[in-house]
Amino acid sequence: MRLGANESAFGPPPAALAAMREALPRTSWYGDPESVDLREALAAKHGCAFEEIVVAAGIDDLLGLCVRGYLAPGEVALTTLGSYPTFNYHVNGYGGVVESVPYAHGGAVQLEALAAAARTSHAKLVYLANPDNPSGSFSARAEVERFAAALPTDALLVLDEAYADFVDAAELLPAAVSARIVRTRTFSKAYGMAGARIAYALAPRAVVETFGKIRLQYGVNRTAQIGALAALAEPAFVAGVVAEVERGREEYGAIARAAGFTTLPSRANFVLIDAGTRERAERLSALLLERAVFVRKPGAPPLDRCIRVTVGTPAERARFGATFAEAAAALDANSLHA
Ligand SMILES: *Cc1c(COP(=O)(O)O)cnc(C)c1O
Repeated sequence: MRLGANESAFGPPPAALAAMREALPRTSWYGDPESVDLREALAAKHGCAFEEIVVAAGIDDLLGLCVRGYLAPGEVALTTLGSYPTFNYHVNGYGGVVESVPYAHGGAVQLEALAAAARTSHAKLVYLANPDNPSGSFSARAEVERFAAALPTDALLVLDEAYADFVDAAELLPAAVSARIVRTRTFSKAYGMAGARIAYALAPRAVVETFGKIRLQYGVNRTAQIGALAALAEPAFVAGVVAEVERGREEYGAIARAAGFTTLPSRANFVLIDAGTRERAERLSALLLERAVFVRKPGAPPLDRCIRVTVGTPAERARFGATFAEAAAALDANSLHA
C-alpha cells in the first residue's frame, strides 16, 4: 500500500478523466502555451485577473521559477528545516543559500522566528507551506498576514498552498493576490491528478510576466490542461474527497491511540504518528515496509521521531489499522530485547 507520497486515494474527478480520454487523440498537438481556457476559469474561481495567474507543470515547477526569477547566486532563501524539500533543491541548483528555522516540538511552523531570521539573513525568498508538509500544521489567516507584513520589503514570500483545498477558504488570505506573495496551488492533491503534473500560481502581474520570460513555453501537458479545466467544474467531487480525508485523519488518530501512540494535528491529507524517537520511527517504518505498507519518515528533527501516513480509502485505512497494530506490537517486542 502506497501511503507515503500524499497522493489522492480517490482519483481524479470523473469528468476530468472523461475529458482527458477524449483529448488523447490530439496528443499530436502542443498544448496552449498560455493556458488561456484554464487561466480564465481560474481567474473566475479566485476573483482575480487573468494576468495574475500562471500555469505550470506542478508546484515543483513553480518553485523553480521563483528561485530562478528572484534569487541571485549567493543570496539567501529561508525555509523551515525539514519542510517540503523541492524548494531547497532549486535553491541549491541555482546557486542560492538555504537557511532554515526548525519546527516547534509539536510540529508548528515558527512564524515569528522565521520572520526574524528573514530580516537578519536578508533573505530574498521565504518559503512557507500552509498547510505544511510534512507536519500537517496550519497557520490561520491573521497569523499569515502578520507574518507577511513582518518580512523584509525586498523579500518575496513563496506561500505554498498545495493543501489549501483541505481548509475553509475563510481561513486563507482574503485577497487572491497580494504584493510580494506568490501563492501556489495544485491539482495534485485534493483533485487527484498528481501524475498529470499541473498547478498554478496566484501572483502579482510583474511576477507572472517574469515567469513568462523564463518558463518552458510548452511545458504544461495539453491533456493535463484539459483535465484540469474539467476538474474545476466538479467542486462537489473535491468536497467529497475533503470530507472523506477528514474522516480518514480521525481514523488514523484512533488507530494510533489504540496502539499507544499519539498523532500531530493535521489539516492536510496525511497524519504524523509520533513514535517518540527517531530510532523507533525508523524501525516502525521498516516494520510497516516488511508488511508491504510504504509510509514516509520525515528526515529532520524534531519531526524525525514520526512517520507520515497518507489518508487512504476506507478499505486501505482498515488494512493500515491491522498492519499498524502488528508493526507496533513487533516494535515493542523488539525494544524489550534491545
Ligand atoms: C505535494 C506537494 C507539492 C507538489 O505539488 P505538485 O503540483 O505535484 O508539484 C508541493 N508542495 C507541497 C507542500 C506538497 O506537499
